[in-house]
Amino acid sequence: MSYSFEQHKIVGAIEADDPFWRSLEDGVLALPRCAGCHGWTWPAHHRCGQCGSWQFDWVPVKPEGYVFSYTRTRYAFDRVLERKDDVPYVTLVVELPEAGNVRLMGVLKGDETGLAIGARVRGSIDSPSAKTKFYPALRWEIEG
Ligand SMILES: [Zn+2]
Repeated sequence: MSYSFEQHKIVGAIEADDPFWRSLEDGVLALPRCAGCHGWTWPAHHRCGQCGSWQFDWVPVKPEGYVFSYTRTRYAFDRVLERKDDVPYVTLVVELPEAGNVRLMGVLKGDETGLAIGARVRGSIDSPSAKTKFYPALRWEIEG
């Protein structure tokens, strides 16, 4: 069965990040870049916080970066019981130099060898599933 985040959107969201999720569903990481000042912005907004422009270009970005921070989940919390079989798992915050060092989160894929602040990682995209709350999921793998 195939899923799409469009059918499971978070109620009350401002939807500025919808293009991010649509691109991920198409297998592409794309991030918003202001059409006015060319600054990268994340999380997505409808208006640029630097120059006030309402126009953004969604630019494909290579899913490559460095570990900014990470945490290990050791308990299957109620809101993410879909991941209970993965516990313990690691969630990373990754900085993307190609996109002005914006930071994106994602669950670690593969083993933890080499896991450290500053480790180089490469992203891949998991299709939407019940486990990912019907959103496509960016995953990060440590490059050896
Ligand atoms: Zn701007």
